[in-house]
Amino acid sequence: MSLKDTMKEEISNLKEELIELRRDFHQHPELGFEEYRTSGIVSDYLRECGIEVERVAETGVVGVLKGKKDKPVLMLRADLDALPIEEKADVPFKSEYEGKMHACGHDGHTAMLMVAAKILAKNRNELDGTIKFVFQPNEEDAGAAIIIEEGVMENPKVDAALGLHLWTPLPSGKVGITPGPLMASSYYFWLTIKGKGGHGGAPHLAVDPIFCGKEIMNALQSIQTREQDVLKPTLINFGQFHAGTNPIIISHQAELAGSVRCLHDEDARIRQRFEEVVAHVCRMYGAEYELTFKCGNELLNNDAEMTDLVKNSAVEAFGAESLQETDLTVMLGEDFASFANVVPSAFFFLGVGDPEKKTDMPHHHPEFKLDEDVLPLGVEMHLRGALAYFDKSKK
Ligand SMILES: [Zn+2]
Ligand SMILES: [Zn+2]
Repeated sequence: MSLKDTMKEEISNLKEELIELRRDFHQHPELGFEEYRTSGIVSDYLRECGIEVERVAETGVVGVLKGKKDKPVLMLRADLDALPIEEKADVPFKSEYEGKMHACGHDGHTAMLMVAAKILAKNRNELDGTIKFVFQPNEEDAGAAIIIEEGVMENPKVDAALGLHLWTPLPSGKVGITPGPLMASSYYFWLTIKGKGGHGGAPHLAVDPIFCGKEIMNALQSIQTREQDVLKPTLINFGQFHAGTNPIIISHQAELAGSVRCLHDEDARIRQRFEEVVAHVCRMYGAEYELTFKCGNELLNNDAEMTDLVKNSAVEAFGAESLQETDLTVMLGEDFASFANVVPSAFFFLGVGDPEKKTDMPHHHPEFKLDEDVLPLGVEMHLRGALAYFDKSKK
């Protein structure tokens, strides 16, 4: 009997362990780069499965499982971090840490990949290559780029990568994947407008940075609606606008911040135009400015062949009706993009949205919940993805 024949049973035997792991992580959420408890549990677990373990970026865990052959090397990735949100969901395993919560499903991702690793380790003699299990820290703020810098793609060198996200906008059990751009690039910006303070009764003697700032916000909208092809989605969003201390004082400066998101690869040009618009409006009002950008996430692009591999696995596992290939792209970012820019990769959504179980809340919501019945399906997708990748590489 091969792993393909036994996997459903092996997974079902570990379902309780899978849910226990997930609930324990949920109860003890840790923010990005603080995942000490979580990463400790992961690394002990992998070691017990006979997997070689290394640490990366202190709170990241990398497990290397050699099969019958050393090559090729497939990366399977999960993320460990929680969010600075006070949990409002009514669950018996509610977060014990004030102001911290697993509100994106990363607790589920970690548990699913652990159990997948256990089953794959038990069946290592069936693997025509090596699997690198990457449990990365700080997905919510671009942790991938840092572990790549620390060499996670080398020794052994990764040839391809697969990742998944439990997804509440998708009905429970559906697998959502599409080739090409799936999730947007995002750059955060911080803009300081420097005006000239003065009396609210004599604005002609001052330079009002609030007035200038709202003009900038308006003018920037023209990039999205008049300059850029609307079929190449672009989003400029303001999350902060701070200025002033008093009703009768014109502030000397205003501070704005937000994000620029693109579901295409012309993001550098958009940032250049952004700065040109800011510079011109400031000149018009006699203000000065300072502007900085920081990369949040790169564009997440799915490789066509790796996408087919995930699609076939989903159909094989749960039938053709489980596959969804449209209405998936989002302007949210995901740092798996950084791996996908190094090796052929596929990232897919696994639906956990079930209105009856109230697991259809948006990600990052304080009442976010997972449909735990889907977790075994995620384990199965990991197993099938690995087998299919090694099969494809043999041909
Ligand atoms: Zn998130
Ligand atoms: Zn997430």
